[in-house]
Amino acid sequence: MKLGNLAWKKSVVVFAALMLLALFTLPGTVRHASAAAAVEASIVLDGQTINGAEPVIVNQTTMVPIRVVSEQLGYSVNWNQSAGRVTIGAEASPLVLTIGSTTADSASGSVQLEQPPFVRSSTTYVPLRFVGSQMGLGVKWEQASRTVFLQTPAQDPSLPPAVETPDPTPVVPSNNASIDAISFSDNRLTISAGANVTPKSSSLAGPDRIVVDLPNSAFGPGLLANGSLGSGQVGTLTVENSSLVKQVRYSLFSESPSTVRVVIDLNRAVGYNIYAEGNLIFVDLNDDGTAPPIGTDGKKVVVIDPGHGDHDSGGVGITGVKEKDMVLQVGLKVAALLKQEPNIDVIMTRSDDTFIALDDRAKIANNAGADVFLSIHGNKANASSAVGTETYYADAARSKTLSDTIQKHVQQATGFRDRGSKQANFVVIRKTTMPGALVEVGFLSNKEEEALMMQEDFQQKVALAIVAGLKEYLGMN
Ligand SMILES: [Zn+2]
Repeated sequence: MKLGNLAWKKSVVVFAALMLLALFTLPGTVRHASAAAAVEASIVLDGQTINGAEPVIVNQTTMVPIRVVSEQLGYSVNWNQSAGRVTIGAEASPLVLTIGSTTADSASGSVQLEQPPFVRSSTTYVPLRFVGSQMGLGVKWEQASRTVFLQTPAQDPSLPPAVETPDPTPVVPSNNASIDAISFSDNRLTISAGANVTPKSSSLAGPDRIVVDLPNSAFGPGLLANGSLGSGQVGTLTVENSSLVKQVRYSLFSESPSTVRVVIDLNRAVGYNIYAEGNLIFVDLNDDGTAPPIGTDGKKVVVIDPGHGDHDSGGVGITGVKEKDMVLQVGLKVAALLKQEPNIDVIMTRSDDTFIALDDRAKIANNAGADVFLSIHGNKANASSAVGTETYYADAARSKTLSDTIQKHVQQATGFRDRGSKQANFVVIRKTTMPGALVEVGFLSNKEEEALMMQEDFQQKVALAIVAGLKEYLGMN
């Protein structure tokens, strides 16, 4: 999201109004969400309450975990631990905040924050209203209900229509398709592009490998944000438990014309079928190279989305377990089980420790014409006493049945407190167009649940439950 002049002015006005409101109406005490006496604040985005946001109020400023900014508001977030720096939003005009500092850098220069970002129990908190208004959202505080209302500009009729101001330094439009995600599961390589790409492929021997060139393409911001891609734009996809594939490598092979090359390193020569569906490119490996395309022969397409990845650890547990690792382990187990289902084709949004932008996860499922989308996460709260399994849907008509079914099976498997199947506007389930759900297996911030969720047999039990839930939903039992 690029911040135009108007959005900037608007945010200054909103910000000033908020400060006035804060002066006149808020008590002058420091409040914490965890303090027993404090009334918690809530956040409403486009008319929907954001669940699990757990804001902390510091000197009248609502501070939210950075996870809310990335998962709920859909901004890309980069976290540079050594520098204590958080970068939010588009690469071209990011908002840069520093832990402990009340000065932030934006496209329009240095700006002052009400409160500096801080880290508590491995969670980074940023001032919500500041970030929201900087990103062009309408922000309103209602004292009576202690609610922060956020509106995306398109949905707020009270805000003037956005006017595009001419860009002072126009960027030459690139004709390159962005390569947004690369994953491998079910003997299938999936490449997600931002536009149509006509791949060129060849099979080579000594050592056996399949080379796929993507003409007029370049890595998109999601993949470029990965530390693993490095400055040379060379990355490796770890492939586990495949008899056919050693690893997948990818690189910016040429800059003119810009070409991304993906190489599948094989254990032995094998046939393949390469084809496109929407902006997705699939390379299906099998001995005679005649694997039917994904979703044919009446097969249901299931997209499994392990949350977070690479620099985005997700929640960090009480003993340091990273959410991104736990959910990948569970996700890979789910994919391995689904692979054995004769009537299901599975796609993973990520199959190793790679960061994929939230929009791109939804795009993969939409482009694949998937029948079901399931995102896997681990929960985190400030209080270590918070426990339980919960599942979210964004649109009740489309996804509540799926969410209810997944919740029933997964909660039974974990044996954790049943926190229910609930509505929330997480980006990945809001932007997918098919039935979609997001399951929070348990709380990494609770010692017992964290320990269980890292156990192999517990993860397998959860994976079996997810598969049972998906099959029940798809009428396959
Ligand atoms: Zn998560």
